[in-house]
Amino acid sequence: MHKATLNYAKQQDELDELSNYRNQFHIPKDKNGNELIYMTGNSLGLQPKQTKAYIDQELEDWANLGVEGHTEAKNPWLPYHEFLTESMANVVGAKPIEVVTMNTLTANLHLMMVSFYKPTKTRYKIVIESDAFPSDKYAVESQLRHHGFNDKEGVILWKPREHEELLRYEDLEDILEKHGNEVALVMIGGVNYYTGQYFNLKRITGLGHKHGCMVGFDCAHGAGNVQLNLHDSGADFAVWCTYKYLNSGPGSLAGCFVHERHAHNKDLNRFTGWWSHNKQTRFNMRDEFDVLPGAEGWQLSNPPILSMAAIKASLDIFNEVGIKKLTDKSKKLTGYFEFLLKQLGEDIIRIITPENPDERGCQLSIQVLNADKALHDKLTDAGIISDWREPDVIRCAPAPLYNSFQDVYYMVDKLKDILNKNQIE
Ligand SMILES: *Cc1c(COP(=O)(O)O)cnc(C)c1O
Repeated sequence: MHKATLNYAKQQDELDELSNYRNQFHIPKDKNGNELIYMTGNSLGLQPKQTKAYIDQELEDWANLGVEGHTEAKNPWLPYHEFLTESMANVVGAKPIEVVTMNTLTANLHLMMVSFYKPTKTRYKIVIESDAFPSDKYAVESQLRHHGFNDKEGVILWKPREHEELLRYEDLEDILEKHGNEVALVMIGGVNYYTGQYFNLKRITGLGHKHGCMVGFDCAHGAGNVQLNLHDSGADFAVWCTYKYLNSGPGSLAGCFVHERHAHNKDLNRFTGWWSHNKQTRFNMRDEFDVLPGAEGWQLSNPPILSMAAIKASLDIFNEVGIKKLTDKSKKLTGYFEFLLKQLGEDIIRIITPENPDERGCQLSIQVLNADKALHDKLTDAGIISDWREPDVIRCAPAPLYNSFQDVYYMVDKLKDILNKNQIE
């Protein structure tokens, strides 16, 4: 059977042992009630059907128990975040002591920089990738200003070479050979949000550490998308959100990783609150501050349980499937997507995401010859929900938990239709 046919896509869905998970998600529909082809799980993941029951449980316990819910709820609220730790650690390849769910992503990035960005007069610079997500750039620049440094001089950009989009490790090596002794922190997006390039975190960490720099990653586009192995990477810290591939709802809480080697270091400077304090004596309210070991020691506040319930609903699915099976499917699905796109002609379609499946997750960033936002609008009208980034990139992320081979087939088929019509016009 030819691969570029609907029948082939259908057959792949039948062979896919994870295909039934799609039924566990609400798939958005158009005005006529037809399911949309949703390719933006990299921006906001879809809602698991069981999320409502998880949140309802907490609403019910709150209604029936009031404050007693902290200890008497079916899932007591005081230790609620602990119910997420093990699954979250599995998702990002970390040990439980290294992981906590708290705050939001950019807030966690700042908290991590309070502890791991320790500039001196001569070593104060921060290396980030030139196409970093804007929030990360703003956070880094504001940390420089906060410490009294010039935010333009203090940022060193790891840039692609001319006429290229992807970053090369040799260039980071060069930067660190030349400026390593001025660099306090290397802070990179683990999977670049724009190109979809999945970096070798271990290699980057090794490079940074060799030059005496701290190394941290923003894994917003990695968590739930690729096998992260944060512990083995040796990174000092990492942060990620849970509303993208981790399907926990708009603005939901974020994850944070602090490497085990820092777990018992009470001398690290940090911002604290009562939730970073020893659980046994937290409610005595008068004690000297006694920090919790591990990532939990960076918590500030008692967390929003309703959001945590949504995260639990989602992580229970990830835990059941396992990140290995998920990424195995993802490689097939995105590989098929890439194959179909290439059928449209490599003179018209250019994929800037790395070709090597180990250097990307599910997202493909696609450039279409002479395209502008009108193309994206036509795709949207045709029921394809994708993401447009100026100047000319369409980002599509078939998420292996709920996207199918047929989704990918229809996406490319509609794109082909639109391109053919454009030619006739
Ligand atoms: C999505 C994303 C963010 C968003 O930050 P919030 O604090 O969750 O609003 C930040 N950085 C990266 C790399 C992202 O992909």
